[in-house]
Amino acid sequence: MNQNAVLQQLLADTAPAVKASVTQAFSLIGRGDTGPAVTVLRECLKDAPAGQDGHRLVLASIVSVIAASRLGDGPPAELLVREYPAGKNVSSIRRSTVEMATRWLADAARRAIQAGTTCPNCGSAASSVVGNATLSGGAAMTDIATAGILFDIRALQAAMPQDPPVTVRGWGTIASRLVQSMSLTAPARQCEECGLLYLQWPMDRERVAQYYVDFAEPSSTLQGTEVTGQSENLRATYVKAKFPEFVRKLLGDLSGRRVLDLGCGEGTMLACLREYGAKPIGFDLDVKRARYAALALGLPDMTFEAERFHALPDSVVDVVVSFHALEHIPEVDRTLANVARILRPGGRVAFAVPRAIPSDGKVLGMGGDHLIGFTPLCLKNFFERQGITVNLLAAGPDQNPMHADPSGHARWSGMKDDMILVGTKSAS
Ligand SMILES: [Zn+2]
Repeated sequence: MNQNAVLQQLLADTAPAVKASVTQAFSLIGRGDTGPAVTVLRECLKDAPAGQDGHRLVLASIVSVIAASRLGDGPPAELLVREYPAGKNVSSIRRSTVEMATRWLADAARRAIQAGTTCPNCGSAASSVVGNATLSGGAAMTDIATAGILFDIRALQAAMPQDPPVTVRGWGTIASRLVQSMSLTAPARQCEECGLLYLQWPMDRERVAQYYVDFAEPSSTLQGTEVTGQSENLRATYVKAKFPEFVRKLLGDLSGRRVLDLGCGEGTMLACLREYGAKPIGFDLDVKRARYAALALGLPDMTFEAERFHALPDSVVDVVVSFHALEHIPEVDRTLANVARILRPGGRVAFAVPRAIPSDGKVLGMGGDHLIGFTPLCLKNFFERQGITVNLLAAGPDQNPMHADPSGHARWSGMKDDMILVGTKSAS
């Protein structure tokens, strides 16, 4: 079977315009004009009509097959004959093409992991392996967009013998499939300079930042401290709504105090803090959720974007609270330096983060969009480096004061390894 016959089969139920472009591209490839062929395919992707996502994916997949062929897996025609016997429809073609590209990408991923990486907080290359994290583990990884943010596409491309002609969009799809289907693991390393835990995995900082900007619209609604309506993670929202109650127990009366919630999301904690008489300020990289918080709560005194967080004046906040946000922000020192700066002397912090615990070679609480992790000691050191004295560091079910609450926190099994840190900025 010649290449053209295979193509006609492959594209049997594809729109005529798409078919013409792909046929032209393969003809160019046959003459060795790979560059122009890729241009034709990219133009075709751009012009694909609305509702033709399947065709877009088929094209992205075909580009992947071409790339695979350039890596020595055989010419495109042979691959196509092997993978697509006659009569397959577009969805099965798409599925098996992505699977094939996934296998091919897995090798590149392993090479990229072996190449190592530096600490995302301080840039130091000195580190030691403390365990292994499964990249496809955890609820977060069921979401394609979440899985995709881990990948520095350019780093993966650099691990290839040649630069493959694949669009970043196509790579994101394939990369997230890779995470979901390959059960890849990456070493978790601890930085010898700053103590941070991070994955030995190429992280794309721009995609990480954009990921939160593009996050889905919130689906839960708030009425005071009551959370009603549909929430993507009602259990998480419930537990988050409980945190300010503990903050109040640990830090005392909040009324009249300016409290900043670092990573406020859709405002669950802000609503509770306001119920307690605090003057809440929300900050989140996820601008959509933060705007929703402002609208839903009618809060005028809000700041959302990272630049505005870093532009807040010195000593304007009495308390900074944060619930499961720090593990999403690789620049820990920069973030906590700003927390210390905006706190008034004697101001307090109350942070909850998951504990990354190496046990049996498996690292918990990392992977997905948990880009970094903490041990109890390194968490304490991060705050103390910024002049914040740690008054309480509860790590594990026996110590966490929220677990003493019979109404819920401990029942959320995913939170059983939470750490809660309470600290005070020095008064001088
Ligand atoms: Zn470091």
